[in-house]
Amino acid sequence: MENINLHPDTIAEVKDRVDLVEVISEYVVLQKKGREFSGLCPFHDEKTPSFTVNPVKQLYYCFGCGAGGGAIKFLMEIGKQSFREVTFDLAQRYQIPIKTLGVEQQQEIQRKISLRDQLYEILAVTANFYQHNLRQKDGENALNYLQNERHLSLANIDQFELGYAPDSWETLYHYLVEIKHYSVILVEQTGLIKKRSRGEGYIDYFRNRLMIPIKDGRGRVIAFGARSLDGSEPKYLNSPETELFSKSRTLFALDLANKNIVKQDQVIVVEGYFDAIALHIADINNVVAVLGTALTQQHIKQLSRYTESKQIILNFDADKAGLKATKRAIKEVEDLVYAGQIKLKVLNIPNGKDADEFLQSDADAFKQYQELIKKAPLWLDWQIEEILNSYDLANSADFELAFQSLVRLLNKISNNATKDYYLSHCAELLSRKKNQFTGFNSQELKTIYQSLQLATKKNNYRQKKNTYKVYKSSDNRQVTRAEFLLLLIYLHCPNKRENILDYLEEKDLVFSRAHHRFLWQKIHQLTGNISTNNDNYLLMTLQENMVNYPEYNSALNDIFNLQENDRPIISEPDHSIQSAIACLEAVSIEKYKQYCEQKISELNKEGDITKMNYYYQEIINTKVELEQLALLRMY
Ligand SMILES: [Zn+2]
Repeated sequence: MENINLHPDTIAEVKDRVDLVEVISEYVVLQKKGREFSGLCPFHDEKTPSFTVNPVKQLYYCFGCGAGGGAIKFLMEIGKQSFREVTFDLAQRYQIPIKTLGVEQQQEIQRKISLRDQLYEILAVTANFYQHNLRQKDGENALNYLQNERHLSLANIDQFELGYAPDSWETLYHYLVEIKHYSVILVEQTGLIKKRSRGEGYIDYFRNRLMIPIKDGRGRVIAFGARSLDGSEPKYLNSPETELFSKSRTLFALDLANKNIVKQDQVIVVEGYFDAIALHIADINNVVAVLGTALTQQHIKQLSRYTESKQIILNFDADKAGLKATKRAIKEVEDLVYAGQIKLKVLNIPNGKDADEFLQSDADAFKQYQELIKKAPLWLDWQIEEILNSYDLANSADFELAFQSLVRLLNKISNNATKDYYLSHCAELLSRKKNQFTGFNSQELKTIYQSLQLATKKNNYRQKKNTYKVYKSSDNRQVTRAEFLLLLIYLHCPNKRENILDYLEEKDLVFSRAHHRFLWQKIHQLTGNISTNNDNYLLMTLQENMVNYPEYNSALNDIFNLQENDRPIISEPDHSIQSAIACLEAVSIEKYKQYCEQKISELNKEGDITKMNYYYQEIINTKVELEQLALLRMY
């Protein structure tokens, strides 16, 4: 790409045709404000939007950090790409004939374009091949499963082009390479075959599975989802990531749903292929499914382009795993929801059913589902309900825990009006549920309201201090070590990733050292918040990535390359995780204690005894917490 010089005509046409709003929408959720659009700036961290896009002038500008320019500049900065790369990509995207300054370069471009076209072709041919196999003797099992377990008609099966991958090692390989004469290199790039781990040659990636084609927004097959039929694990297997397919950017059934999402100004996101299929068949057709991964920021940005009101409804399974997935999805898009950039709602089907089961359950289910859509609570109300339901509020210890969880939630809301509303709402709910049996008490409501108000103010402080904290030098070393250990274990013990992520989320801890924070961000970018990657892919990709950041490279070397004396930690990581978390938590509490002491001396001057008492109590609480943590830090 570096040596290609585009003809000035092509560049001029690119500039003419490109739509800035469309380009930026892939990275930023934009809301219409009068003649302009606004959103959260992708170039600096912010909680309230100061990034604006002017569609008439085709210019963007950020009042927070001063970033500004046109579409090409935007893409260059956000993707760290050169002018050539960006204009070339745009020309391809808008199907502008690409003229270059040299003949050889022209051929090179043709080759690159036809490569992608050939990948699409191979995938389409394969979808047909699988479809054909479903109707053969071999495919009987799969067909039975679809008709009897999933209650799909033959017409439904055709509509979604469902198929069957034969139970053999190289049927597809043979078909594509030896009969259809596609180059083996190209077929490998589609992810449909892979090199044998031992010996020569290739084997099929999918064997004895029910095959579901995954298409892009324009309806081209880009990958497959596959369900096992004999109970073998994993139950669902997706194509590997390829030139055409990335699961954190792809949503199943988007090609069928996009027009309906626009029409209904709302999208429903489900967890499984068959939930999406069942809903589409039931004529609820603004539905897409995530592909066995969390909902990512990219997904949300993609979807919010289709709905003006940015209304996104999550309908994940109602079991424990589904609940966790819902919470994780909210967490992933938290900046956007807390800043009010999208309207996220949560739809839970009663009795723990998933959408597919529910629609099969009785003839009236379709209507009931429509009702559930209408009644789906906003994510914040849903989370508050979740918290209140998981505690027995008549019990004072439980009440305190619920109170603290609500405080954490409220503190994340950046819009003051929204925060005020929810503050009194939570106070009301807390006091009603606490006194369910003894009757409502308005004096107590007032007390709860005031302490919520106070607690949310203080926690804001604690959060801010968490990000920019300064320590005594002994703490300093320990914190650096604790952060180091967490990252080391995160990278080298894949099965502890979930664990570490949960701790950090639950206790609201952040990395304070610049190089650690940097690495943590990189990890997030790569995994899209999936913490269960059971392989070394993450470590390898990160290391490759680091070549671009020499300023951090040496500081992070000991994390990437395991040192001899750190090996015992990796083989027995649990104690180190606990102790590292305890260390970070203790430092954050210590800081809060200092804040309380300072508050008391201020209040002392004002003579405000009630508030002083509150902070005295807080200091006593922190002492207890610190003692408990000290035990954990002994390891
Ligand atoms: Zn900015």
